[in-house]
Formats: sequence, structure tokens, C-alpha cells
Amino acid sequence: MHELSILQAIYLSLREIARRYGARRVLRFRLEVGELANVVPELLEEAFAVLKAAEPLIADAVMEYSIVPLTLRCPECGYYGPWRERTVRCPECGSATVDVVDGEDLYLRDVELDIPEENYGQDNG
Ligand SMILES: [Zn+2]
Repeated sequence: MHELSILQAIYLSLREIARRYGARRVLRFRLEVGELANVVPELLEEAFAVLKAAEPLIADAVMEYSIVPLTLRCPECGYYGPWRERTVRCPECGSATVDVVDGEDLYLRDVELDIPEENYGQDNG
């Protein structure tokens, strides 16, 4: 499942962030998922449940996510905006040399950690 491998990668990032700040648990995190990543929300939830059950670090974590629409910029005619008709072409002039400006990637945002008092201010790089 594509969504599980995405979340496994996210988990590795969370684990690294938790290690860095000496956190014992992740409380909350937010994903911004590009439209092109083709993530199915239901499958993302399912994958998260699987991972939560396996990893104590995120056992109580809340996951929020939003889908970032694909945005194109066309160097030919200057179009800037969403794609149409599910092809990565400029919807105005048909050029295929468009740049994908947004909606392609996956971002991890707003991570909330549970940090024990004795570890406050810690930064392990
Ligand atoms: Zn164009």
C-alpha cells in the first residue's frame, strides 16, 4: 500500500525529530499531501492506524492532513493556476513545458511533542 510507505517515511522523520528534542511521544502532526501524490484519505487513515498500533512513539498521536492542489506555472504564456483535465499541461496554451509549483510533494508540519521536563531546551542536532 502506497499510503503505508508514505507514513513509514513520515514516521522516520517524526522519530528523528523526537530524538532531537528528547521527546517521549508525538502528540500531533500535520501532513500536507500534494494532489499528485495520489493519496487516498481512507487508506492514509488505515495506514496510520496500523503504524500507531506498532509504534509506541505515535500511539496517541493525532494526525491531521490536507491535500494541496496541484498548481502549474507556464513559461510560454504565463498561466499560473490549477491543472485541468488531469494532464500536466498548460490549460491555457497547451504547452507541456510547465513547471509544477505546488501539489507534488509531501510536507510534515506542526509537530507537537511530549517532552519530559528534564529534557527541556535539549537539541541533539
Ligand atoms: Zn501556457
